[in-house]
Amino acid sequence: MIASNLNQIQRTISECEIAHQRTPASVQLLAVSKKKPIELILEAIAAGQTSFGENYADEGVAKIQALNEHQLEWHYIGHIQSNKTRLISSHYDWVQGVDRLKIAERLALHRPDNLAPLNICLQLNIDGEETKSGCTKEQLPELAEFVAKQQNLRLRGIMAIPAPEQNQQAQRQVFATIHQVYQALQQRHSTIDTLSMGMTGDMAAAIAEGSTMVRIGTAIFGSRD
Ligand SMILES: *Cc1c(COP(=O)(O)O)cnc(C)c1O
Repeated sequence: MIASNLNQIQRTISECEIAHQRTPASVQLLAVSKKKPIELILEAIAAGQTSFGENYADEGVAKIQALNEHQLEWHYIGHIQSNKTRLISSHYDWVQGVDRLKIAERLALHRPDNLAPLNICLQLNIDGEETKSGCTKEQLPELAEFVAKQQNLRLRGIMAIPAPEQNQQAQRQVFATIHQVYQALQQRHSTIDTLSMGMTGDMAAAIAEGSTMVRIGTAIFGSRD
């Protein structure tokens, strides 16, 4: 079942790439396995999936350790508490959702020297909702400068989770705005190559507007309730 879900999503991604004149295979699929058991992740691995996203630090680390014989890439995609930065920095390959200097500092401090630099996507809060995590587009340049200067961090791009809109056109507009911010930041930082936006409900709109990585949970592994 997981294999056929993955297949279906890859097909949808390809169709969206073609429909919107995107380069073939320019959109990566991150399988979001939070709250899902090892057995289902193993099914995804057997079907060829190699990158996974988790948003509970400890749960993710348990899976990383249980699956360490496989060549996988692990993304931490949740809210980052400062008391979890050591754990996250010593186990994951990517952190998507860095939204303040203090967290970036701590991730850099705790990244073990024997590991490759930790890949970082900064989380942009485009709607300006105060309750949501993510930095504003005004705060983004300073945070990007800081991350870019750290030897054991690598600035890769932006992650965003915009609020759902009423219709496809409104949804695309928000993603287009994020894409503009991304392109402006990319002009200043040559290491930037990742625009992480789009989930199960809005991946088509995100790909239409330049996403390079969709983070998909429900459509692969089923609902989490
Ligand atoms: C859970 C989660 C996803 C996946 O959402 P689905 O709607 O299940 O595809 C993507 N990104 C983040 C940050 C998440 O927490």
